[in-house]
Amino acid sequence: MVALGNLDILPISDGVVKMTAAELIRPAGNNQNAWDRHPELEQGKATWELPLGGFLIRTSNRLILVDAGIGPIDNGVFRGGELLNALQVLGVEAGQITDVLLTHLHFDHIGWVSQRGVPTFPNATIRCHAQDWQWFVEGEEADEHVVRKLSSVLENVEVFETDCSLTKGVSVRHSPGHTPGSTIVVLSSGAERALLLGDVAHCPLELTENDWEGVFDLDPKTARATRDRISRELEGGNIMAVGAHFDELQFGRLMVVDHEKSWQI
Ligand SMILES: [Zn+2]
Repeated sequence: MVALGNLDILPISDGVVKMTAAELIRPAGNNQNAWDRHPELEQGKATWELPLGGFLIRTSNRLILVDAGIGPIDNGVFRGGELLNALQVLGVEAGQITDVLLTHLHFDHIGWVSQRGVPTFPNATIRCHAQDWQWFVEGEEADEHVVRKLSSVLENVEVFETDCSLTKGVSVRHSPGHTPGSTIVVLSSGAERALLLGDVAHCPLELTENDWEGVFDLDPKTARATRDRISRELEGGNIMAVGAHFDELQFGRLMVVDHEKSWQI
């Protein structure tokens, strides 16, 4: 757990996904030298086991779940199903969650929003950016799975169109590119800050080096610009950050020594 003033931030595991590095990231502009710089990635063939899940933010009067995992599935690649147990271990029942804040509407972030047409968190307001709602639910390319998941919680959905504060110390910032409405969560207490990055970066490498792109970024150019901005903001390590699929959902800091950036847990 990470504490920031009155906020507690707890990783909530739902399961894991097994992928090769090349299924997740690729050198921008197809610059193969980027692979050569990282022998540990085996030219993209290295296998990664990445966490699926989300984060619980506990404030004095709110229980905010950031992202809702993939849900109870196991198809050999994606395995989920632990999220409700993980909450229970912390003494939290689904009915106590006040807000489900979705960083974006990809399937591995909305899995527990509903199950077979029944809202999993009956008392929660489901929040996401209006541009993701437009893209995944209402637009021409609407995703059937997303529509089905969210149709049973429609009356509880509140979309936001501008950056705003949810409660003291918890605000959302539009960070597009991975998806049109991708959002990061900015947590703050006094001068201290921490960022929940969603899938703006899938691994720290995307923040320490600026010539990678996410295979699933819908708009790679915008996603890269967003990442560059965040990377500069994190430089020096004053602000901690964690992505939705970073190892063990652990926060880290972006340190710079002799112009070399590295990610420190
Ligand atoms: Zn994801």
